[in-house]
Amino acid sequence: MHDFSYVGSELHCEGVSVKALAQRHGTPLYVYSQHTLTDHFQKLDRALSPLSHLICYAMKANSNQAVMRTLAGLGSGFDVVSEGELRRVLAAGGKAAQCVFAGVGKTEQEIEFALKEGIYSFNVESEPELERINRVAERLKRKAPIAVRVNPNIDAHTHAKITTGTYENKFGIAFEKVESVYARASKLKNLKLAGIQMHIGSQLTDVAPFEQAVRKLVPLAAKLSAKYGFEFISIGGGIGIVYQPALESGGLTWWKTTAARKILTPSVYATTLVPLLQPLGLRVLLEPGRFIVGNAGILVTRVEYVKRTGKKNFVIVDAAMNDLIRPAFYDSYHEIVPVQNRSGGRVSSDVVGPICESGDYFAKDRSLPKVGEGDYLALLSAGAYGSVMGSNYNSRALAAEVLVHGKESALVRQRQELADIWKGERTPPWLKK
Ligand SMILES: *Cc1c(COP(=O)(O)O)cnc(C)c1O
Repeated sequence: MHDFSYVGSELHCEGVSVKALAQRHGTPLYVYSQHTLTDHFQKLDRALSPLSHLICYAMKANSNQAVMRTLAGLGSGFDVVSEGELRRVLAAGGKAAQCVFAGVGKTEQEIEFALKEGIYSFNVESEPELERINRVAERLKRKAPIAVRVNPNIDAHTHAKITTGTYENKFGIAFEKVESVYARASKLKNLKLAGIQMHIGSQLTDVAPFEQAVRKLVPLAAKLSAKYGFEFISIGGGIGIVYQPALESGGLTWWKTTAARKILTPSVYATTLVPLLQPLGLRVLLEPGRFIVGNAGILVTRVEYVKRTGKKNFVIVDAAMNDLIRPAFYDSYHEIVPVQNRSGGRVSSDVVGPICESGDYFAKDRSLPKVGEGDYLALLSAGAYGSVMGSNYNSRALAAEVLVHGKESALVRQRQELADIWKGERTPPWLKK
């Protein structure tokens, strides 16, 4: 479910016309619905209400301060992967005591900062990291709360670039080694063994791999918790969303379709997993990113040219892979709809950006309404892993972002100034005249 729909022929985000936003703020433009964000968070939160739990939103999916502030206001914690992310949490009114620190490469400085701020837990990905956290904690005369990230060796059956829970991946500690790692950690005096964690991958559209992984982890968690007195178990993120509506749905009403009904809903997720987790009596942590924010955002772009070659109809737009890299990076599908719907035929089109790479495309051989120069298109489900993966490739400015709340809208990130792209660059003395 989301809050983008047509009012007459015009696409709206909640009560605001997308075309008006595009004209006011320019394109490419990310538009987020605060209601969708809130709704997704609360649906998951409510589904988990039989458990003592904490949702730690994986902010790497979208770390705009307005998004963060919305979620912090709902009581969300955060899954952070760098000092920069933790500083962003604090700046957005979140609490370190509701944050977990993930990632395979935490530096000493990052560990020190997180400890001083009172992080809820470090999710530890290797033995050398355990030693390092212990050392930093000793120096600061503190106890560092840790959880070992277990790699359960379960294939999430998702895209290779977002599979994290098999032994082919760099993440976590092999299931068979986990007990001995905790035994070793228990001898390190400045660590507090606070919990156990896993995260098997992203964009999982079936509950089966989650169930399989939880069934595998729970007995180990029970055994270790009895020994070390855990506070929590974290089952990670990865709940998938609908990107590709069923053909019959014609775009925006996808949640009414069969494909959408089969999607992993919070209620299916909770109904399956809550009974497995409840007997542990531990606080349950979740780290959803995409599920919260993915369908809460669109990328609005303007058609610059329509180029017909012998073989193809290219719709050349002003957004590019530097604004939304998911199609190039993950072969992702994004639904594309006109901001202003008008009657007229459809034509098989490739939607491409202006960057000098063949990978700079948003859709290939897609049946789209006929459009022309100056029309706006919306790429749906662009809220997660969209703007955060933006770059300055081709010296293109980072896109502007808007948050909509009912009939109100506000610019929550201004379009980057071109001169800011190179302002950190310096001329070496020998190149100065
Ligand atoms: C990326 C990541 C998540 C969030 O994944 P989503 O698919 O966006 O829910 C959660 N936990 C960890 C450790 C991650 O790396």
